[in-house]
Amino acid sequence: MEKRELGNTGIHVSLLGFGCSPLGNEFGEIDERGGIAAVHSALDKGVNYFDVSPYYGRGKAESVLGRALKSSGKARDEYVVSTKVGRYDVDTFDFSAERVTKSVDESLERLQLEYIDVILCHDVEFAEDIDIIINETIPALDRLKNLGKVRAIGITGYPIEIFPYLLTSKVGHIVDVILSYGNLNLQNNRLLNIMRDIIENKKHVGIINASVLCMGLLTGSKVPNWHPASHKVKEAAVDVAKYCEEKKLVVADEALKYALGFGDICSTLVGIGDVDTLEKNLAVVNSITNDNDNDKRMDDGAVVREIIEVFRKNKAHNVRWNSGKFLGNN
Ligand code: NAD
Repeated sequence: MEKRELGNTGIHVSLLGFGCSPLGNEFGEIDERGGIAAVHSALDKGVNYFDVSPYYGRGKAESVLGRALKSSGKARDEYVVSTKVGRYDVDTFDFSAERVTKSVDESLERLQLEYIDVILCHDVEFAEDIDIIINETIPALDRLKNLGKVRAIGITGYPIEIFPYLLTSKVGHIVDVILSYGNLNLQNNRLLNIMRDIIENKKHVGIINASVLCMGLLTGSKVPNWHPASHKVKEAAVDVAKYCEEKKLVVADEALKYALGFGDICSTLVGIGDVDTLEKNLAVVNSITNDNDNDKRMDDGAVVREIIEVFRKNKAHNVRWNSGKFLGNN
């Protein structure tokens, strides 16, 4: 599978990234052996990037991933792991230098690793004051980078305005990676509003796109109770699933194809907790990679346009939900 460099980090990640929140049972209870088998199979099939967090299953996802990587028999340089600091429960956030420093050690232990490739500040819009990320969190992570405990530093969150705010701050040059979720998929493509500027003016930053199935909304299945989308957006997703069924299309496949169409995205993360789900997503990636006629693929944009139109008609396209305390500047 194609690998792309994450900004200027020297770290190369696979086009499809393995989102590990399902390993923490975030989308319903999974069979741990099935989750571990999925990690092993992913590694064998060229997926080298795994994203996790202490928040997913409150430590469980990191522990399961750690066991899977340990038993995979792969060398440490054959996989890339990102994990996070700052979010520990639904409403428990602590981005202080002391807590995030301790958090990295806890993650290293659960993951059974000597170092973390990418450490991300998890959902920074929930920080008591966003400037703590600038004044405490990122400097603390930079110290851990100098100690060799982490290789690269990044930020994650939902309101896209957090990215320019932090990238243009006094610690912007230390931020190697941004992980955006829910903002570059068939329901919402607001990330495009800021992506060009980041690519042109912050060339050192690698961009990861997550939740391209909109946290299950674009799968035609029921979403978990915690899903933050409004009733209107959820209803529109049901209409999109119906549209796809009528056209004999698989909604998740169309959603992943759409997300994989952005050349500036280093890796596209999909939540995976079993081999079957991995296989479905690999099949989509392979169908695109094996399709020599790229122009034809772009032309297939008719389906994308029609799906987006269904969201538009429902007044649910580019509609976002509230997240955290940071409201941004626009
Ligand atoms: P997602 O959009 O990838 O949806 C996951 C759900 O879709 C799961 O129920 C999964 O079983 C199902 N699914 C996956 N592939 C499927 C397929 N081909 N057909 C049918 N169903 C399929 O949502 P996500 O898991 O939230 O996002 C992916 C990853 O991105 C996460 O696991 C996490 O690693 C990362 N992420 C990070 C942040 C953050 O840092 N703030 C936020 C969201 C996601």
